[in-house]
Amino acid sequence: MTDTQRPNVAPADIEEFRLAARAWLEANAEPIGEVSSEFADSESGDNDNDNDGAGSWGQGAFSVAVFHNLSDEQEAERLEATRSWQQRKFDAGYAMLNWPVELGGRGLATSYLRAYNGEEARFRVPSAGELPPTSMGLIAPTIAAFGTEQQQADFIGPLMRMDILGCQLFSEPSAGSDLASVTTRATRDGDEWLLTGQKVWTSGARFAQWGLAIARHDFDVPKHKGLTAFLVPFAADGVEVRAIKQMSGGANFNEVFLTDVRLPDSLRLGPIGEGWRVALTCLGFERDHSGGGGGGHAGGGYRQVHALAEHLGVTGDPVVRQMLARLYADYKVAQFTNRRAAAKLKAGQTPGPEGSLGKLMWTMNMTSVSQAVSTLLGARLTADTGEWGTYAWGEHVLGAPGYRIAGGSDEIQRNIVGERVLGLPAEPRVDKDIAFAAAQRLARS
Ligand SMILES: Cc1cc2nc3c(=O)[nH]c(=O)nc-3n(C[C@H](O)[C@H](O)[C@H](O)COP(=O)(O)OP(=O)(O)OC[C@H]3O[C@@H](n4cnc5c(N)ncnc54)[C@H](O)[C@@H]3O)c2cc1C
Repeated sequence: MTDTQRPNVAPADIEEFRLAARAWLEANAEPIGEVSSEFADSESGDNDNDNDGAGSWGQGAFSVAVFHNLSDEQEAERLEATRSWQQRKFDAGYAMLNWPVELGGRGLATSYLRAYNGEEARFRVPSAGELPPTSMGLIAPTIAAFGTEQQQADFIGPLMRMDILGCQLFSEPSAGSDLASVTTRATRDGDEWLLTGQKVWTSGARFAQWGLAIARHDFDVPKHKGLTAFLVPFAADGVEVRAIKQMSGGANFNEVFLTDVRLPDSLRLGPIGEGWRVALTCLGFERDHSGGGGGGHAGGGYRQVHALAEHLGVTGDPVVRQMLARLYADYKVAQFTNRRAAAKLKAGQTPGPEGSLGKLMWTMNMTSVSQAVSTLLGARLTADTGEWGTYAWGEHVLGAPGYRIAGGSDEIQRNIVGERVLGLPAEPRVDKDIAFAAAQRLARS
């Protein structure tokens, strides 16, 4: 569908929009059934309803996986289903609701996006793990923030329609929490750059066509100042991707080796030396995303734990009741924190440390869910009896710790909350003002 065919005009009011979206979804997707009102939040689209097994015990597929344990063929199939859905959604005008019109969006207020998300949450729509949210929720808006007009035109529409997929080439073996310590080297060669280094934990790299890389063009200035961002085509000579096997079974992330990868200067994202700002912007999108948005629903939640306790007939047990009550309260607190962040955005304010609080609460709740199901299931968690909705919880328990690290570890989020909310003294940052190469020599001595 062309731009002129896409419904670009704001509907008169949000209810009219909601009804149109509902009608489109009814014509294009299968409804999930009744959503428990406790956790269905049609305003924010914050809805603990992504997985089966909460309403009708024993029926349908049951998945509470945080990371899916799939072969490359199965992963490709899942991505294809997600791509096909996203393309239909994009062509119908629902994929870029609150993006500016000049970037191909509809320029609608966030309330329209929330209204759409609330409607979509009532339907079964394909969603393939981490790569599409990274590509559309992190890489595309970072290109919107820093890209040239040409880069915006080349990348944003194709990323948002999932014609191409982009991943995040940030972490390295010795640069994770301290991301500004990356050592991937960017060497200028006329109108081109040569990139050499190793990236690690790159989610989705085997299925992405592009990576947003942070590299060091200058080792003789303080670490944050010597960085530049690049858009790296995985088809380029010198890019090698190797899968990393996870304890939960799958291989969602990868090592990416860059050996003299030659890039035109037109693939530099943002000014030379502004790579740190590009990285921070992208990480800001990631935090907001994992706390309250797309990634925030991986794994099982309160409703599935409650359904399990009911199935096991233990909801009368005082210890189980206390555990469920606590979990319920914690989920509610996280939901209100996400709403607070959404309200701030709605009022035109910049999201603050709520992103860190939301992410922390999300990973804490995932851990509490692991503890609750371990208590409820005991040995059934480790030995497959074939009983529906039991052994499969292992995929939550083994996957949940990954999100305590991804997108900024729990400790780093606590540092942010400590410094920015509680006003505690900042961490000592002794290498902040000395040349990166000198700091490295000091660290080695
Ligand atoms: C599921 C998953 C997906 C990921 N996807 C991607 C991706 O797509 N792209 C990408 O670039 N990276 C990705 N990562 C990498 C992720 O960003 C890093 O793992 C993370 O930033 C932590 O870095 P690290 O592993 O080097 O650990 P380190 O930084 O070495 O940390 C080790 C431990 O020390 C603690 N620590 C470190 N610094 C401090 C401090 N200042 N104060 C207190 N404690 C501290 C940490 O909390 C942690 O417990 C992913 C990771 C995971 C788990």
